[in-house]
Amino acid sequence: MANDFPKHLVAGYGRYLTKGSIRHREAQEQLAIYGQRPDVMVISCCDSRVTPEGVFHAGPGELFVVRNVANLVPPYEETDGQHGTSAALEYAVRVLKVKHIVVMGHAKCGGVHAFRENANAPLATGAFIGRWIKLLEPAAIAMACMPIDRLDDPQLAMEYAGVRQSLKNLATFPFVDTLLRSGELALHGAWFDIGSGELRIMDRVSGKFEPCATDAQILPVAAAE
Ligand SMILES: [Zn+2]
Repeated sequence: MANDFPKHLVAGYGRYLTKGSIRHREAQEQLAIYGQRPDVMVISCCDSRVTPEGVFHAGPGELFVVRNVANLVPPYEETDGQHGTSAALEYAVRVLKVKHIVVMGHAKCGGVHAFRENANAPLATGAFIGRWIKLLEPAAIAMACMPIDRLDDPQLAMEYAGVRQSLKNLATFPFVDTLLRSGELALHGAWFDIGSGELRIMDRVSGKFEPCATDAQILPVAAAE
């Protein structure tokens, strides 16, 4: 083993073997034998603070997760290119046949912030991130036309608008559209704040984000420790 492999990862793997995997041992054996059959796909940001499995307390095999900068879904297109997110979407929908796709934005998203900071001066076209977050341009236009997004917090408003745009883009994929029309697939928007622990869910009709209805309470910091 390379001796520069991060020691805290080795230590973490040790804890996984002795503690973490016990809870899921039987389930993991089943997953290994029969393969994965998650019914939910989650598209979230690369941000290290936003972990779908953590937020939804999900174990191995429960969520098919794709993470990219600013939790974006590009529109359907047939051009040549390395369409990583689209490929994952295709696999989730056509092979795994997931029933739900959740696009989860989050508070203080660096990708959204970068887009906002450069909204009037396009990022270098040669930069990967600059080209990627241009996917937010239609979201910014749509946001300007929607009164519900004229919030006091423009960063938050853009985070919401980005989720809505990705949901809209999802529906441009023919294999998604077909299943949406037949009711075999549902799209959902969500937004998570690591600081408060709050999860907000987008209302499909109004487009507004409302606190997730749960009987559980967010514990104060002192009580949670
Ligand atoms: Zn982010």
